[in-house]
Amino acid sequence: MTHTITLLPGDGIGPEVTDATLQVLEATGVSFEWVRHEDVGTAGVEQHGTPLPEHILASIRKNTIALKGPITTPVGKGFKSVNVQLRQKLDLYANVRPCITMPGIETPFKKVNLIIFRENTEGLYSGMETYDERHDIADSVARISRKGSERIIKFCFDYAEKHGYDLVTVVHKANILKLTSGMFLDIARTFSKDYPKLKFNDRIIDNMCMQLVVRPQEYECIVTTNLFGDILSDLCAGLVGGLGVVAGANLGDEYAVFEAVHGSAPDIAGQNKANPTALIRSAELMLRHLGEVRAADAIRKGLVDTFEKGACKTPDLGGSASTSSFAAYLSERVKDNMGG
Ligand code: NAD
Repeated sequence: MTHTITLLPGDGIGPEVTDATLQVLEATGVSFEWVRHEDVGTAGVEQHGTPLPEHILASIRKNTIALKGPITTPVGKGFKSVNVQLRQKLDLYANVRPCITMPGIETPFKKVNLIIFRENTEGLYSGMETYDERHDIADSVARISRKGSERIIKFCFDYAEKHGYDLVTVVHKANILKLTSGMFLDIARTFSKDYPKLKFNDRIIDNMCMQLVVRPQEYECIVTTNLFGDILSDLCAGLVGGLGVVAGANLGDEYAVFEAVHGSAPDIAGQNKANPTALIRSAELMLRHLGEVRAADAIRKGLVDTFEKGACKTPDLGGSASTSSFAAYLSERVKDNMGG
């Protein structure tokens, strides 16, 4: 069977880590037809006058699945984040980011096994910002809806139960944001009663940041609103080896977009030194989503073997391998694991 997937390599380090990921996917022997679009973000503006042309959304709607590299968002001005627009327009409400220590990658803590479930379509990313010129005041609306909260919280509890986790933690700021964070917390408390086998607790976001950098092993599934989830997932990436190794999946009821947690890393773009592991692990999540479990396992084992041997590491992990040489090395391990 051939899987038809929309491919958005993105910009910055995106094309480099995407090429590496495609090489590793090819080594699995799984058949893909890639529908590749490079005219997105700044390139979309230059070619079509918009960072997210309609034909790209149509392509994802048709194929239902996309693999995506990072896309740069101008800071403080310019167009609205393509990443946020994709999530909202495709209703990809669950951003799932596993932050799990991998043998062979040195980290301050051992055995961290955290999954962040970030609400992906509302909160402070609703895009409702206004600027009152007369008084020089800017406002952002943090919209939290009952429907939006219920579905991400349910998604997290269901996932925890299905995958054998024991604990769900809801992260909030309900002491200050009594209506928005307060509603999110209330809904989580109510849902927790439907999952008696799961332990449940809550943490205020500032305390949670401290807890995670001191005793991350005490937490498992973390469900939270959009901005807190964005920040916590970078923090948790730092606990398990950095942004170069953490995968992500944006999931909705109809569509799925797989992408790394990291951004376009302009400081290292075009230098063939980015770590492609995060996008490769996102592709591993995509393979599991497609039911290609054997191929996903072959990549997982290939990564563990590669890191445990210490044979091939990119500079962010203390090695000197290039993006392309890492991909070539891992591809051979994956071929071996597929028995080919
Ligand atoms: P970033 O994640 O791009 O980079 C942060 C730091 O981590 C940099 O020092 C970078 O070199 C390093 N890093 C990131 N990925 C790496 C990798 N694979 N290998 C080795 N090192 C890696 O974050 P930023 O600099 O804050 O953002 C840059 C741009 O990316 C911004 O325009 C931002 O909006 C965008 N962004 C996009 C996405 C996305 O497409 N989903 C996510 C986050 C940020």
